[in-house]
Amino acid sequence: MSNPTNPLKAVRGTRDLLPPDSALWNHVEAIARSVFARYGFGEIRTPIFEDTQLFARGVGEETDIVSKEMYTWEDRARAQSEKAQSLTLRPENTAGVVRAYIEHKLGDSGQLQKLYYIGPQFRRERPQRGRYRQFWQIGVEVLGPTSSGAESPLRDAEILEMLATLLDELGVKGWQLALNSVGSSEDRKRYNAALREALAPIKHQMCEDNQRRAETNPLRVLDSKEPNDQALIDGLPKIADYLDDSSREHFAQVRAALDACGVAYTVNPRLVRGLDYYTRTTFEFTVPDGSGLGTQNALLGGGRYDGLSEMLGGPKAPGIGFAIGEDRLILTLQAQAEAAGGSAAEKKLDAYIAPMGVERNAAALALARELRRAGLSVEVGDGSFRLKKSFEAADRVARHIIILGEDEVKSGILTVKSFATGEQVKIASTEIASRFGTENQ
Ligand code: AMP
Repeated sequence: MSNPTNPLKAVRGTRDLLPPDSALWNHVEAIARSVFARYGFGEIRTPIFEDTQLFARGVGEETDIVSKEMYTWEDRARAQSEKAQSLTLRPENTAGVVRAYIEHKLGDSGQLQKLYYIGPQFRRERPQRGRYRQFWQIGVEVLGPTSSGAESPLRDAEILEMLATLLDELGVKGWQLALNSVGSSEDRKRYNAALREALAPIKHQMCEDNQRRAETNPLRVLDSKEPNDQALIDGLPKIADYLDDSSREHFAQVRAALDACGVAYTVNPRLVRGLDYYTRTTFEFTVPDGSGLGTQNALLGGGRYDGLSEMLGGPKAPGIGFAIGEDRLILTLQAQAEAAGGSAAEKKLDAYIAPMGVERNAAALALARELRRAGLSVEVGDGSFRLKKSFEAADRVARHIIILGEDEVKSGILTVKSFATGEQVKIASTEIASRFGTENQ
């Protein structure tokens, strides 16, 4: 039993998002929605928990996510008609989106599906700055039947270009795009075999995790951040040498389209990403050191997953997607704004109404109602406050203070002071909304 006098805390790896930070979250999401809309994306909202099998099949049993990080529980049957079922909090959203694509037969329209999502994901990782057990992702999936053009390298280049636009519109500075191709599943089979062969004589010199990966899924060794193993890993065969002509051509076309758009990138032959379903293009956007992420400098990742729908029992539906770590994006924006001497989230209200005496409280609320309905953001003080306290409170949250005394209520002529200029003027209450409105523009 927990001690009733001990206040409960948010669970390790989870956190509360509070104002004013939450305003930045809303801002980021609003910009993302606006950019996605311009590129023809529609929003999808899938359930936060799914059948465990979805992730086991879709993400891959051997991945860290499925093998050790999922929040899974046996969901008891509540009635005879129900069966107990193993359920899991979604650790990522691509599998859920592809399940929905299959379930709702979205491919039957023959159209390319361009979907985005914004929502929490759950992984039991070791919490640290930029790594949480509940974290948010803003993601996109483009998929459809082959005849819809879903396999085209143009789709890959378009979403990379969209990401560059999104990060620029958000004001993220110094982002870098790393790109690679992991080839078709056939290419990967051949490459895996080559890796396994190359690893066999050297794997005993590697860390335990890499020794295991060398056996079970050698591709994953390339993902390893183990400092002592880096030199050995750099000497391993490169996937680029195992791509067949069509994968090679596909990758060349992605790069050519990015070059034409002026989107800068570097090719990183070790970028294979942690999930089993990736084929061909894989990518990651990082931010420079000192952007607030510490060692977790990957802002987002994604890639093509041409066989995923079939792995989940659906029709052939090649696709490509990405997931931005929203927590990391916010940390980056905050750190970069701070480094530039500002604050990313500061936005003050238009006005603070200070009633002089509790008899003016009702009139203050009525005035606030009028101004708020006219579109202004307004806070109302309390008539029991002294003038000094009202000024202090107003200065903290608003750009103007409106003083509402007996005379003001009677005459409808209000005293308004601007904190920015120190100027104090008398304005008819009916004119305030239009006066502040022009200032806001
Ligand atoms: P993934 O789904 O693993 O490809 O991750 C995509 C992006 O989600 C990463 O680049 C991170 O920005 C973010 N991300 C993944 N795991 C976490 C986590 N535990 N906490 C915060 N962000 C995460």
